[in-house]
Amino acid sequence: ISGSPRPVIRPLDEAAINRIAAGEVVERPASAVKELVENALDAGARRIAVDYAAGGKVLIRVTDDGCGMTAEDLPLAVARHATSKIDGSDLLNIRSFGFRGEALASLGAVGRLTLTSRVEGGDGAQITVAGGRLTGPRPAAAQKGTVIELRDLFYATPARLKFLRSDRAEAQAIAEVVRRLAMAEPSVGFTLSEVAEGEAPRVIFRADPQSGDFFDALHGRLTGVLGAEFTANALKIDIERDGLHLTGYAALPTYSRGSSVQQFVFVNGRPVLDRMLLGALRVAYFDFLSRDRHPAAVLNLICDPERVDVNVHPAKSEVRFREPEAARSLIITGLRTALSGAGHRASTTVAD
Ligand code: ADP
Ligand code: MG
Repeated sequence: ISGSPRPVIRPLDEAAINRIAAGEVVERPASAVKELVENALDAGARRIAVDYAAGGKVLIRVTDDGCGMTAEDLPLAVARHATSKIDGSDLLNIRSFGFRGEALASLGAVGRLTLTSRVEGGDGAQITVAGGRLTGPRPAAAQKGTVIELRDLFYATPARLKFLRSDRAEAQAIAEVVRRLAMAEPSVGFTLSEVAEGEAPRVIFRADPQSGDFFDALHGRLTGVLGAEFTANALKIDIERDGLHLTGYAALPTYSRGSSVQQFVFVNGRPVLDRMLLGALRVAYFDFLSRDRHPAAVLNLICDPERVDVNVHPAKSEVRFREPEAARSLIITGLRTALSGAGHRASTTVAD
């Protein structure tokens, strides 16, 4: 506008930067749960407990028995772009869930965040971040591992709060996230509980650690998460071609669903929402299902991390393949072969 002073360019302060980034990373309580559980898995936890109150709006607490953090680690854990998982030179070789170093910084910008942690043989320590302000570290009693508590999510951003759905709907989204990660890591035990002031916690979901070889453990976990009917009707998928390895369980066409609720795709163990891969799943079943039915399957595509870019989106739920056609065709031909081979069984099973 003529006459008004020329706009001044200036760097944003740290708190504003964190709030902006949080907009992408933390859409709703379930996204916070996803980041915290992924951190627990990256820390090598064998058991993870997730507690929430009021659909996660009032409280999210993730407790793990992983490697823990020292008092010196804690302030770094909540600093933006600080991570122990990559050194920055190997963005093409990511094997952990996390690598961006921004989840905890973001959570501290949109809620009241408390980290309590202890490493093997060390002393417990605690920090708090609220409104971008860090307090601590201070000594604290702690088990080996980490407890991260996020209270009053979005209290400082009422606009965000308004977009959240009912407590029930947010709780369902949290359960969905925990179930997906439980399918990704069968050897880890998960407990999801709802807590309310003055009441005993209500267990929503429990998955005991599974042992045995890869497929035994996955089979056991899928029986727990998707039900015995799924695994009783599922074909083991284990096909390798040109360095791509497709593993998992795909249900017989007779166990089809009325929607896509039982379709889960993982890439190197990371839950992804990938249109290309889900599209391939649909194509594979095309000749076996009527048009209003949807396949049920849990598939994990394993490949050299260099062949898939996971740094596409802040929530890391999208990936980009170097050779997407190879991934797509492996799913289609692999599943078709398995389904044709099971043809005689398919015709004797009763539909749901
Ligand atoms: P990223 O996971 O991308 O590294 P985060 O902001 O989620 O970034 O976490 C920052 C760092 O804090 C991690 O790299 C890790 O070193 C540490 N950390 C976070 N959560 C845990 C946990 N539950 N146990 C041990 N260390 C953790
Ligand atoms: Mg992380």
